[in-house]
Amino acid sequence: MRDSDCIFCKLANGEIPTATLYEDNDFRVILDTNPAAKGHALIIPKEHYRNLYDLEDDLAAKVLVLAKKMVNTLRVILGCTGYNIVQNNEEPAGQTVFHFHLHLIPRYDNDHVGLGWHMHELTDEERDEILSKVRFQ
Ligand code: 5GP
Ligand code: ZN
Repeated sequence: MRDSDCIFCKLANGEIPTATLYEDNDFRVILDTNPAAKGHALIIPKEHYRNLYDLEDDLAAKVLVLAKKMVNTLRVILGCTGYNIVQNNEEPAGQTVFHFHLHLIPRYDNDHVGLGWHMHELTDEERDEILSKVRFQ
């Protein structure tokens, strides 16, 4: 399914031209227009999925294989010294475009790209509460 109101549906399917690094039947990989670092790219499926919550299983599997292929090629071309793979789901997590995408963010020595978060210590109560509720089928 595609969404006629979705900018990433249009970009992924070539309705709006964009800087494309790679394309296959399922995905287009493009340069982000507001890169966190030089070479910041996005893997976008051609079909519309809001985010990881409803991404088809076969595409979920394929996207990480493609990410591996892309970063192993791009890291040589770009000369970066690290990579962050980021994927945001819903507004509290920073999602601004509601069509699934995986960020490939090259990292360079001392680049000061701010992708951090403040961590706290896992308490016994928090651990026990979560473990008592988690039941995967
Ligand atoms: P999110 O915050 O949803 O995880 O990431 C959305 C990303 O899409 C942002 O990094 C933003 O710069 C990028 N973006 C938004 N609109 C466009 C666009 O029209 N073209 C491209 N190439 N990137 C876009
Ligand atoms: Zn879409």
